[in-house]
Amino acid sequence: MGFGCPEVSNKSNQSVIFMYRLTVIPGDGIGPEVMEAALYILEVSEIDFSYETAHAGNECFKRTGSTIPDETISTSKKSDATLFGAVTTVPGQKSGIITLRKELDLYVNLRPVKSYEGTPFLFEGLDFVIVRENTEGLYSGVEKYTDDGAEAVRVVTRGACERICKFAFEYARKNMRKKVTAVHKANVLKKTDGIFKDTFYEVAHEYNDIRSEDFYVDATAMYLITKPQNFDVMVTTNLFGDILSDEGAGLVGGLGLIPSANIGDKNGLFEPVHGSAPDIAGKGIANPSAMILSMCMMLKYLGEVEESQKLEKALTKVLRDGKVVTPDLGGVASTMEMAEQVKTIFEGL
Ligand code: ATP
Repeated sequence: MGFGCPEVSNKSNQSVIFMYRLTVIPGDGIGPEVMEAALYILEVSEIDFSYETAHAGNECFKRTGSTIPDETISTSKKSDATLFGAVTTVPGQKSGIITLRKELDLYVNLRPVKSYEGTPFLFEGLDFVIVRENTEGLYSGVEKYTDDGAEAVRVVTRGACERICKFAFEYARKNMRKKVTAVHKANVLKKTDGIFKDTFYEVAHEYNDIRSEDFYVDATAMYLITKPQNFDVMVTTNLFGDILSDEGAGLVGGLGLIPSANIGDKNGLFEPVHGSAPDIAGKGIANPSAMILSMCMMLKYLGEVEESQKLEKALTKVLRDGKVVTPDLGGVASTMEMAEQVKTIFEGL
């Protein structure tokens, strides 16, 4: 399995029966609502799958005393892919999703920034991806109190830089992208980002068919507003990636529309970028688009590229028509009404 690179296709050999085993983690708040919508659509997919529901988050904590029980981690490890809804993380609690990403060594966080017609984007025609290193940097969790405050350690290893840069170039190659941009602050963070930048160019040498360039993170924050069309694939460290990908979300219409993938060498986990949205939970009005697009990313990861494209096309049509969309997109449809519309179009493609 590889992102965007089908190793096998069930379309070319009908005698082979494929059964993907998925782990489904609905979570809290609107998580179960958008998950139900996405799975309802998946029912009419041509791919054969089975799924096991596993638990994580605050409701799970109240029932079991853990935000991410061991069974959830082991189920997820054994499956072909995991679909994750959203969880509420209460301050002081161990984050279920962060633990799961670590346990599965999901070192890539992939966030597409794409503007869909009919949605409140700031720029038309945007289509780039941010590849964020997911395991170290300032989020490696090495912090300590000092006499006068506290210190956080920014961990950057050559190994982690190499694998994330390789992923970015491989992704570019497999997805017909032309350019990879490294984002860093090597003029100030001379050692840590120096390693990141040097490793990026070492890896770039192996991909002469793809253009490479690098920018400082502060300039990138500005370019994302002044000329976002220039980006194609961006690769960066953990904290910068976290911030820039939310800036990217703002460019294309907000949280209800943004999917993400967390990828490692053995596992993939797909989740909407939004949280559990307690303010609208239980009302049946959550926009299912981010969850549906996360499922598209999962299908692509599984090698089901055609099915992924069909599903994205169905959603794109519903968004463009704008007639059966949720209130955040200016409509009056419920989550399941919008899902029904996507499902009908998907089935007919
Ligand atoms: P959490 O604590 O779980 O992160 P939050 O409310 O702080 O929850 P989000 O869940 O990401 O953060 O929500 C931020 C805002 O975006 C909320 O007003 C929420 O209603 C809105 N929102 C998030 N996801 C969706 C969605 N799928 N459809 C419609 N509105 C959404």
